[in-house]
Amino acid sequence: MFTSINPATGQSGQTFEPLDEEGVEAAIKRAAMAFRSWRVSPIDTRIELLHGIADRFEGDKQHLAETAVREMGKTLASAVAEVEKCAAGFRYYAEHGPAFLAPVEVATSSGRATAQWQPLGPILAIMPWNFPYWQVVRWLAPTILAGNVGLLKHASLTQGCAALIQQMVQAAGAPDGLFQNLPIKSDKVARIIGDKRVAAVTLTGSEGAGAQVAQAAGKALKKVVLELGGSDPFIVMPSADLDAAVKTAVKARVQNAGQSCICAKRMIVHTDVYDAFLDQFTRAMAAVKIGDPMVDGVELGPLSSVEQRDTVLEQLERAQADGATLIGGEKIERDGAWMTAGVLTGVDPDADFAQEEIFGPVAMVFRAEGIDAAIDLANNVPFGLGSSVWSQDQAEIERFVRDIDAGMIAVNQMLASTPEAPFGGVKRSGHGRELGPWGLHEFMNLKAVMLA
Ligand code: NAP
Repeated sequence: MFTSINPATGQSGQTFEPLDEEGVEAAIKRAAMAFRSWRVSPIDTRIELLHGIADRFEGDKQHLAETAVREMGKTLASAVAEVEKCAAGFRYYAEHGPAFLAPVEVATSSGRATAQWQPLGPILAIMPWNFPYWQVVRWLAPTILAGNVGLLKHASLTQGCAALIQQMVQAAGAPDGLFQNLPIKSDKVARIIGDKRVAAVTLTGSEGAGAQVAQAAGKALKKVVLELGGSDPFIVMPSADLDAAVKTAVKARVQNAGQSCICAKRMIVHTDVYDAFLDQFTRAMAAVKIGDPMVDGVELGPLSSVEQRDTVLEQLERAQADGATLIGGEKIERDGAWMTAGVLTGVDPDADFAQEEIFGPVAMVFRAEGIDAAIDLANNVPFGLGSSVWSQDQAEIERFVRDIDAGMIAVNQMLASTPEAPFGGVKRSGHGRELGPWGLHEFMNLKAVMLA
């Protein structure tokens, strides 16, 4: 059984019956059947369904948001914003999708050709709990538009959110088998990837899960998109608006209790402004409002689970044993998965823990002697997901854009995903892109049609 556990209280909530082997087989069969008709469905039918699902997200906003808060502890305000973003994501693909699917004329030496976008088949998505609706939607919306069909293996923690997504898609009039939530553990995933009726797989999650899913996909010679972890740099140069940088750094670190792949995790600060930044940042992190995630104005609720909180505490212990100084970042003694926000300084950038992702509300702060040192520090991790740079100097900004190894860079702002822009990473943050036309095209067959 899957049991939702409220990380704010430690209390058990809803339970969900897992799907057995027969259930998985039946779901794959239904998906394959659904693909036969959905792949040739009129574009207007797909657009209508996308809008219909968006309507459901908007109409049930409060209930959806509260379910996410109870299952993984994010603040209610951020859960409401997530649900609204999901509706916008469906509408984005409904409105812009047809243009992304238009055939491309290609001139050849022997005549004319077109390149046409065609669907691939049932796509398996394995998703994490941290944005339990948005992670699914940014794959599901383009899946529906493409003419593909979807199978979801959601995180064990957020089975309630997964079930609600399935209900909304059905209520919006999706044909049977178009989208199915599979309440399964990860040990069933490799068999599904290997099934010949499943065309491709996408995973958002940790490096470990990514490697296993990529291995199964490689064995079956199937396309895989991986959206994995990050340890994003947040670079502050002397010309930056320091107050704005500090305020944004705090938000970028503690959002979602520090459990976003694109949280700013490493603050890299030019030596000229290091002391001023550190002083303001440390005070602001200590002042982060901790409390019941359902209450308005709370900035930091519990982490998603006691295990997740303890993983972070263990990393902090190793950091201190390695000589780093920790301010805050302490366990809060109460039921649930609570800890305070914290700041680590004096970190050896090559230490094991400094090479890992800290998936909780604790920032590392590094001093950089100049722009070269800042870029070296930024790139000195196995990840390459996002980044944020703060400077008023155009030449510096251009250097950062050119030289930071990352899939995304935000200039004088917090990095956030948006339906229009490509989302994804390089290095051990994964490969492939979601969102925009790029996310849609990842799971399509670009067929060359040679015309006489
Ligand atoms: P996780 O343990 O990898 O779980 C993610 C999903 O993968 C869950 O559905 C999980 O199922 C499943 N899973 C775990 N091991 C698997 C395996 N061996 N084979 C197949 N599926 C497996 O990650 P998490 O700790 O929940 O999520 C946090 C990680 O996700 C962080 O590293 C974060 O940076 C990353 N993330 C990346 C992005 C991005 O877009 N790049 C976005 C958000 C999060 P169970 O829950 O049943 O274990």
